[in-house]
Amino acid sequence: MNIFDNLEHHANAQELLAIIALFHQRGWSPATSTNYSFRNPQPFHHTYTISKSGIDKSRFTIKDLMLIDEFGKPLPSYQGIRPSAETLLHTVVYDNSPETRAILHTHSPVSTIFSMIYKDEKVVKITGFEVLKALKNITTHEQTFELPIFANSQDMPALSEEIDQYYAKNPDMSAFLLVGHGIYAWGNSMTEAKRYVEALDFLMDCMLKLRLYKN
Ligand SMILES: [Zn+2]
Repeated sequence: MNIFDNLEHHANAQELLAIIALFHQRGWSPATSTNYSFRNPQPFHHTYTISKSGIDKSRFTIKDLMLIDEFGKPLPSYQGIRPSAETLLHTVVYDNSPETRAILHTHSPVSTIFSMIYKDEKVVKITGFEVLKALKNITTHEQTFELPIFANSQDMPALSEEIDQYYAKNPDMSAFLLVGHGIYAWGNSMTEAKRYVEALDFLMDCMLKLRLYKN
């Protein structure tokens, strides 16, 4: 059976295409960058649908999605086609959290700049904002959300290993920044992952602007 004929898979793919188009309109995926994935429905739960490498997100279609196994390798019908260069950063998240259904990664200007400014802190603590309540396990603006920051790398096995170790110690992690690169966020549904990306972008934008006003 072709999974693209599966109704649940089709709905997920359409939802993801709408998000990719929206994020591109916001300027969050310049120059073919960024990548996106979702966990395939049962009985294909240990395979994922992910964006192909190097596709312009302004004209991304369902044909630009492909299937990979739990190790990030293309499934047989996609042999010879390259998934996103950052595929291992997706599989490490799915590996650590079986409930995760979707992972979204943007190169928004705010997440890129924010990660550079706060790179020495390695984890940024965000508190005091009402929009925090959109994030995982946060019910009041008085709580603190910790957003980890990892050094950027082109060595995906090493970087995914570093994230794997951090995730093992911080099982509530739902997003991270890569320095000078962008943000990854994930959730138990596509809607939840989108909400996390949008909330964090808004919060980072607020924090950056506050810094400007204080200086
Ligand atoms: Zn990237």
